[in-house]
Amino acid sequence: MPVLFVGHGSPMNAIQDNAWSRGFASLSKGIPTPAAILAVSAHWYLDGTFVTANARPRTIHDFGGFPPELYRISYPAPGSPALAERVTDLLPTARPSDTWGLDHGTWSVLLRMFPLAQIPVVQLSIDRRLEPTDHAALGRALAPLRDEGVLILGSGNATHNLPDAFARMRSGQTATPDWAQHFDSAVADLTQRHDTNALAALWPDSPNARHCHPTPDHFLPLVYACAAADADDTVSFPITGFDMGSLSMRAVRFG
Ligand code: ZN
Repeated sequence: MPVLFVGHGSPMNAIQDNAWSRGFASLSKGIPTPAAILAVSAHWYLDGTFVTANARPRTIHDFGGFPPELYRISYPAPGSPALAERVTDLLPTARPSDTWGLDHGTWSVLLRMFPLAQIPVVQLSIDRRLEPTDHAALGRALAPLRDEGVLILGSGNATHNLPDAFARMRSGQTATPDWAQHFDSAVADLTQRHDTNALAALWPDSPNARHCHPTPDHFLPLVYACAAADADDTVSFPITGFDMGSLSMRAVRFG
């Protein structure tokens, strides 16, 4: 099974027909139908590594100030307590949780990829206390799931500075700044070379890293995806480009 990283961008991509939402739909083409999906979303970022163990995960509308139709969306995919248990086998520090469900980092992409919501989905949280290299180790430990038909889906953005992106959108200055271009290019280069350690080291110490990611929540799902891939996987970028000038929408497919 391939591994995917997706730049989810604005929640509006869930309801708008645009280049990004059409890109999300295309991501399910050419891959076997997964037995289940393990999503690592930027939006479940807290103290601890948790897996959703609910048989019927709820759809979480974890955003504010959007049109009512976005809050009416339900993505009724089943959970998979069996996969949650398998994840806790592979990651001894992970614990099952029934407090979360599917957040928009997961459902805004999956409702385009798998609109029938028939494939079980489990989410894995990102422990904000860990270093990027610790996240890489967790990602590596998830790799055996690929042979079990599980699609590992990291959902974040390769660059993610929302105050900057909104300022650009308001001013109409939506040319992509060099700092975002450089960081996004470094992501492309290091993922292509399967260099997970160098990728993980991009944040916080590379030039402009803290400007590209004031906090690493949208960066770390990329580290999980790259770590779960192996050196034999072909690497491709089914979606590239920037939304609102500085928000990278790059998707990475491994395998
Ligand atoms: Zn997000």
